[in-house]
Amino acid sequence: RPTIGVLALQGDVREHANALAESGVTARPVRRPEELDQVDGLVIPGGESTTMSKLADVFGLADPIRKRIADGMPVYGSCAGMIMLATEVLDGRPDQRGFDGIEMTVRRNAFGRQVDSFEAPVEITGVPGPAFHAVFIRAPWVERVGDGVEVLGRVTDGPADGRVVAVRQGNLLATAFHPELTGDLRVHRYFVDVVRAAA
Ligand code: GLN
Repeated sequence: RPTIGVLALQGDVREHANALAESGVTARPVRRPEELDQVDGLVIPGGESTTMSKLADVFGLADPIRKRIADGMPVYGSCAGMIMLATEVLDGRPDQRGFDGIEMTVRRNAFGRQVDSFEAPVEITGVPGPAFHAVFIRAPWVERVGDGVEVLGRVTDGPADGRVVAVRQGNLLATAFHPELTGDLRVHRYFVDVVRAAA
């Protein structure tokens, strides 16, 4: 049974931990480098990426997380977590720094000029069944992906039609939306499969 950590500095940690536990793995909060050492994968929750970036430095986790990512640890980031995984952030704070994970450019609060929060069906490659009911809350979108990045999902309607909101690069997965809030476990199960395959 793999152990998956949830970065527990800030954000909706409990929702992710519950979704992981329901997906058949052991979920553990990660606040210290020693706790990071004990997990097979990591979830970076939704929240506020500027705060998370600051706290990751304060808690001495930023460099250890970058190192585990470079070594191939599977990581899933939702919303603020997607921002933390991006190599480039637009409309971020100048001092915010992520974990150098997925080679992509994300725009923070991208949908905000149109709508703050909204829900939309998103088809996700590799997630069988009906379109995912995706909840977006001051979400980013992806404006550019590098060569090794697979686009898994896009918004398919409305003013943001075509925007990329789910991606994968190797063992790294990111969604602009919050599957931890809807009770649909398919994205967490997808990530659990990535962790099992990497173990
Ligand atoms: N807007 C937040 C940020 O920039 C993300 C919002 C969220 O995680 N729901 O980090």
